[in-house]
Amino acid sequence: MAEQTTPARLTVLAGPTAVGKGTVSADLRARYPNIWLSVSATTRAPRPGEVDGVHYLFLKPDEFAGMVAGGEFLEWAVVHGRNSYGTPRRPVEERLAAGAPALLEIDLQGARQVRQTMPEARFVFLAPPSWEELVRRLEGRGTEDAEERERRLVTAQVELAAAAEFDHTIVNDDVQRATDELVALMGCAPAPRERLAPTDPTSR
Ligand code: 5GP
Repeated sequence: MAEQTTPARLTVLAGPTAVGKGTVSADLRARYPNIWLSVSATTRAPRPGEVDGVHYLFLKPDEFAGMVAGGEFLEWAVVHGRNSYGTPRRPVEERLAAGAPALLEIDLQGARQVRQTMPEARFVFLAPPSWEELVRRLEGRGTEDAEERERRLVTAQVELAAAAEFDHTIVNDDVQRATDELVALMGCAPAPRERLAPTDPTSR
């Protein structure tokens, strides 16, 4: 369980495609259920296992456009030149008004928009251990076809160059370690580690 140790504020986690933002978010949901993670709206189709209202709000393009027109997004962007993604404004504002921490996992364009409107937020960049590892992860997850992978790698190159705009960089070399570092930055106490088995004094 995470315990708040510093004043609550908004934290924005961004980073290149396939760096593992989704995996870190899933680990956070599992091990830190009391850290509130914004549920984005998107026009993209659900992937197997994704649940509407949990992983995303899956909207039709006209529904998304209606929310844009109504000023209902804190930020929104067309990501990888294809689908629209946005952060519903009201839930985030309610969390912050209640003095509770909130986390957004969004792309670089969205992070830049939040920096304009909420410069007091904490901006965290999730980086891959290397470019080769990023390419390997994108190919390994097999959720995109070759054309989409190529498109995402072009975006990723631009995104990697933006790390310097962020307040902190976390290298995603190990998911749980990266999540714990994020939680510590948010001013929440880390989840207790599993107890290590007692050391056998006879083994060396
Ligand atoms: P995916 O389709 O793989 O779930 O996400 C594609 C990209 O969209 C990721 O880089 C993710 O961070 C970004 N994304 C997810 N939700 C939002 C959002 O609400 N706003 C913005 N700007 N980007 C988002």
